[in-house]
Amino acid sequence: MSISAMKKATLSGESYKIMIEENEIPTHWYNILADMKVQPNPTLQPENRQPVTRDYYADLYPQGCIEQEFSTERWIEIPEEVRNIYKIWRPTPLVRAHRLEQALQTDCRIYFKNEGVSPAGSHKTNSAIPQIYYAARDGVKKVVTETGAGQWGSAVAFAAQMYNLDCEVFMVRGPYNQKPSRRQMMQLWGAHVTASPSELTAVGRNQLAENPNSKGSLGTAISESIEYASQDKDIQYVIGSVQNFVLLHQTVIGQECLKQFEKIDEYPDVVVAPLGGGANFAGICFPIMRDLILGKTKTRFVASEPLTCPKLSEGEFRYDYGDVGKKTPLFAMYTLGHDFMPVPNHLVGLRYHGAGPIISQLAKEGHIDAMSHDQKECLQAGILFAKTEGLIPAPESTHAIASVIREVNRAKQEGKSKTILFNLCGHGLLDLFAYDDYLNGKVS
Ligand SMILES: *Cc1c(COP(=O)(O)O)cnc(C)c1O
Repeated sequence: MSISAMKKATLSGESYKIMIEENEIPTHWYNILADMKVQPNPTLQPENRQPVTRDYYADLYPQGCIEQEFSTERWIEIPEEVRNIYKIWRPTPLVRAHRLEQALQTDCRIYFKNEGVSPAGSHKTNSAIPQIYYAARDGVKKVVTETGAGQWGSAVAFAAQMYNLDCEVFMVRGPYNQKPSRRQMMQLWGAHVTASPSELTAVGRNQLAENPNSKGSLGTAISESIEYASQDKDIQYVIGSVQNFVLLHQTVIGQECLKQFEKIDEYPDVVVAPLGGGANFAGICFPIMRDLILGKTKTRFVASEPLTCPKLSEGEFRYDYGDVGKKTPLFAMYTLGHDFMPVPNHLVGLRYHGAGPIISQLAKEGHIDAMSHDQKECLQAGILFAKTEGLIPAPESTHAIASVIREVNRAKQEGKSKTILFNLCGHGLLDLFAYDDYLNGKVS
């Protein structure tokens, strides 16, 4: 960017951060099921293809989460004990990306919601906190979960520490060995971290017998965590995405955005978020999509995916398992198959094979547009963002920035000026290896 463009951005006199007060943190989560015209197909028990019941989940999830999984109530109250911990980092800033706009030479207005300011560095704490609150309320002693690169695991380790529970994390062996900072973060918050596949479960032992050098996969780590939790009543499994209650917990993000936009008399024409299992996408989009469903707006919702894991763009809508070990029920969703293996040297995350049932149903009805990007396009977009706005985005978040750039070009062609919002769902300070590989020409 030229010095004159910089000056223009600095001198524009318009606000950068749009803030709200602590007492404006939402008091309720928003349940989009209450407003959906067509409900998602029920999740099925693999044994008999009957819809799952509260009892089916009873040994797996905390009671409070099971209630929410089946609820069609529109607003679900956030417990005071959860809101009090949300206050550590919420409300998060909504930021006008003036300098990025200047660099793109656009008269579109670009805003981002910065979820990277949470203690673990991503939106995932929004759900880790309530899940572990409900687990503690049930009287369990320990929580267990899986993690790939470590973002969900670190959110759980932090949340377990907040409510004084023990914490076991199965971390995919590849990143466990290669990227120790997330593991160190979890250990600092008091969690015990095991490389997956491990000797602690039958699933893990089988995989190791087949291939002692297995680097593991997220699917295997999920299977191990579920098996580990099923061995003991005092151990509770918690999950980072896909389930309705996880998407629900994330809706604090979009509700805050609406309040922040109201302050400046703005409203987004386009909302963009990266799509893994669907948690951060649902979080920023659902409260705004409510206005679309009610016919009040025509906002476009864009789900950004990796070209190498394009479940919405190229997946099939059908029943499938959530994990490779077939331990989960069957979800009606866009999927690339539960045994989908992402290409090696995939640096930018979002490798989950499916999109949660609610997201999939909304996509089927045409409420969501998918856009896919290769790693190079993502990392280039992330670097442009870092060079203009200063913040280093999580590799997952760079997908959204790549989509925003395409949206800006589209607006240019249409001769329109749009208000674009995207979710900066995490910071990339512990993912610098991805940028490093790109800068050293290792990303093809
Ligand atoms: C986990 C994660 C994602 C993907 O998960 P979703 O359930 O789709 O939100 C995206 N971005 C970041 C920063 C994450 O940590």
